[in-house]
Amino acid sequence: MSKQQEHDCDSLAKNFISVEEAIDNILSSVKALATYECIDIRSSLGRTLAENITAPLDVPPHCNSAMDGYAIKFADISTSAETTLTVVGTSFAGHPYQGSIKSGGCIRIMTGAVMPEDTDTVIMQEQVDREENIIHFSNPHKKGQNVRHSGEDMQKGTTVLTMGRLINSADLGLLASMGISDVKVIRKPKVVFFSTGDELKSIGEALDTGNIYDSNRYTLFGLLKTLDVDVIDMGVIPDQKEAIEAAFQTASQQGDMLITSGGVSVGEADFVTETLEKLGHVGFWKIAVKPGKPLAFGEINNCLFFGLPGNPVSVMATFALFVRPALQKLKGLADTKPKQLPAICDSHLKKTVGRKDHQRGIYFQDEHGKLHVTTTGMQGSHMLSSMSKANCFIVLARESGDVGVGEEVLIYPFDGLI
Ligand code: AMP
Ligand code: MG
Repeated sequence: MSKQQEHDCDSLAKNFISVEEAIDNILSSVKALATYECIDIRSSLGRTLAENITAPLDVPPHCNSAMDGYAIKFADISTSAETTLTVVGTSFAGHPYQGSIKSGGCIRIMTGAVMPEDTDTVIMQEQVDREENIIHFSNPHKKGQNVRHSGEDMQKGTTVLTMGRLINSADLGLLASMGISDVKVIRKPKVVFFSTGDELKSIGEALDTGNIYDSNRYTLFGLLKTLDVDVIDMGVIPDQKEAIEAAFQTASQQGDMLITSGGVSVGEADFVTETLEKLGHVGFWKIAVKPGKPLAFGEINNCLFFGLPGNPVSVMATFALFVRPALQKLKGLADTKPKQLPAICDSHLKKTVGRKDHQRGIYFQDEHGKLHVTTTGMQGSHMLSSMSKANCFIVLARESGDVGVGEEVLIYPFDGLI
């Protein structure tokens, strides 16, 4: 560590727990919801599959042509320069050719149409000269070319989707291709949230001196909707003991998780901490993270509780780092780590040793395919515009000091994260 870095070191942070330790602690108290519902496949997009799906039939169900062309018996191909065959019928997609074919005969066939009995190979129409009902084509060809076999995509009886999977658009098509209309999924978590603070006004209300509009309930709404959970917005709760206690009671009876913002620091009007100590098992954690200290986490009446800091950027960062993995686990999903990528830093970044920092950055790919990142500028945790401009967090390790231009850093792209 350089002299300057030693000087810049956040000495208070020495005893704070690490981000990783905090995530482990949180995840060890979260269990996947064990209530399920059977829903139609369109509604299952973004939900967690709660059963293994076994193919009830072969997909494709029949052997069919991959091309528009002519279905032939490979044995009919002449060893000399050219083969001549007689077209005796047509097989359309959805209208198979029903008869049999003698040696020397062939069938006009369309993409997806059933391969007629006794045929095993398709010659593309572009490779054929046709006069009336006679076709000619030259060698070479391979036996079985341009033919899709039944069960080639999915074989009857095999497991094609496993429990715990987040259902995506491809899965919807896959389920439809097997004729499956409904699937069993884990119930959606219900998340209640409110803001605390006498300075806060909701949209539509006039601002008096010292007031600000409540933005946290809107970022939280967006973050929660992105994770496809049900939300209950309880509005702004004033900094009054009774009001806060009543709000905690109501919220904890309605949701699987309660998220509040503001009031968790040791300020004068911070009743949240006091009330929580009375109502449930809640810990107040000092985490070596920036932005984001302090964070309250625990349980009230079987409802998970996150007390996030009030500053708008801190809300978004702590949500991405701590709330998101907990919600993923509640939803029954395994993969909870954000995707991290190396990028060349094109800006000088100020960083105090001692806390893991999540600065707001803009990343892009240069003409050689390398990722670069620049800072969004001022990094105050009250500056929501820095989040809006950014498309990633620049993640600087706890022990890291300032970052120079050209150094490699890690980024968490926002795609799917916020
Ligand atoms: P607190 O954690 O309650 O001390 O709040 C820290 C800072 O965040 C203060 O400047 C608050 O005014 C601000 N803040 C708290 N809650 C909100 C909110 N819901 N929307 C916007 N800013 C907030
Ligand atoms: Mg406050």
